Amino acid sequence: MSENKVVLSVQDLSVHYLTQRGALKAVSHTSFDLHKGETLALMGESGCGKSTLNLALMRLLPGNARVPNGAIVYTRRDGSTVDVLKMNQDRLRRFRWSECAMVFQAALNSLNPVLRVRDMFYDTARAHGETNHHKVRRRALELFRKVRLDPERVFNAYPHELSGGMRQRVLIALGLLLDPQIVILDEPTTAVDILTQRTIIDVLLSIKDELNFSIIFISHDLSVAAEMADTVGTMYAGEIVELGPVNDMFYRPRHAYTMGLLEAIPRLSAGAEELTSIPGSPPDLVEPPSGCKFHIRCPFATDICAKETPPMEVVGDGHSAACWHADQVYARALQFTGAES
Ligand code: ATP
Ligand code: MG
Repeated sequence: MSENKVVLSVQDLSVHYLTQRGALKAVSHTSFDLHKGETLALMGESGCGKSTLNLALMRLLPGNARVPNGAIVYTRRDGSTVDVLKMNQDRLRRFRWSECAMVFQAALNSLNPVLRVRDMFYDTARAHGETNHHKVRRRALELFRKVRLDPERVFNAYPHELSGGMRQRVLIALGLLLDPQIVILDEPTTAVDILTQRTIIDVLLSIKDELNFSIIFISHDLSVAAEMADTVGTMYAGEIVELGPVNDMFYRPRHAYTMGLLEAIPRLSAGAEELTSIPGSPPDLVEPPSGCKFHIRCPFATDICAKETPPMEVVGDGHSAACWHADQVYARALQFTGAES
């Protein structure tokens, strides 16, 4: 579980993409803190800005992206702080991998086919000044054991000799090679079958406990988020609209959009006719709606929602939401989930 120390503090961060139609506001004025040892899951529909937010944290945004405002304050192990947005290239290179590593879903199929796994490890270590092959090998084999891979075989294998789930675990091990404080996982279980998904979740839960790093985790599968996360953030149209402890988010949500996501989960006890999905589609991010960006699709919306942007307000211990009708949502959620208030 997480300690109270903040390792990454994202403050009022925005990311725009320059497009033919104008600036597309992929992330808008987003703030959150990631604590030491905490796992934060981000959920939200396709296109809401989850990947953009995480790419921004590592400054891996594509060339047409701009960061008009915000700070990303990283706390080193010695307690000193630095704004990732202000790092020079040299510092940034050290920050990536050794402080903060990212495992992309897309990387699964982009492993260089002519490089053995061991060469990926040696190359990554060398890029960060570690040229002692024995040391790198020892660390790699230790990590393979932790992620439940046959160490010797995998170390010497070519990517095509490994299954998708094994490659995914190789990437997780590679991410941990330089002992980072933060690991960002963008849809780590999306393209794998359900048993492989199970293995990856188990592996992540056990190494996380052992190595005590923090995780930012993106998944379309809310059951994976529920199982992995300490904290859950709901993103809608580029904003984190609700953030809180996993149980509060799933049983006592305060934002209409979080509620909508929960209602869209198929329940074993429910008949097919009871299954709802959120009507309408995500808004245009070049010209986003006024007020609360969700108001057009929201069953709770009233006049104020179209006019004024709701502020993020504290609604419980470590729990905040930006919804004008948080109380009504809460009452409905208690009915729906049967949770105690
Ligand atoms: P998914 O769940 O599908 O991965 P996401 O939440 O990760 O979605 P992003 O990929 O961050 O969403 O995209 C946020 C918005 O930015 C979307 O509207 C997307 O179309 C847009 N976008 C992403 N990359 C670019 C780019 N390079 N240029 C212009 N627009 C982009
Ligand atoms: Mg994405």
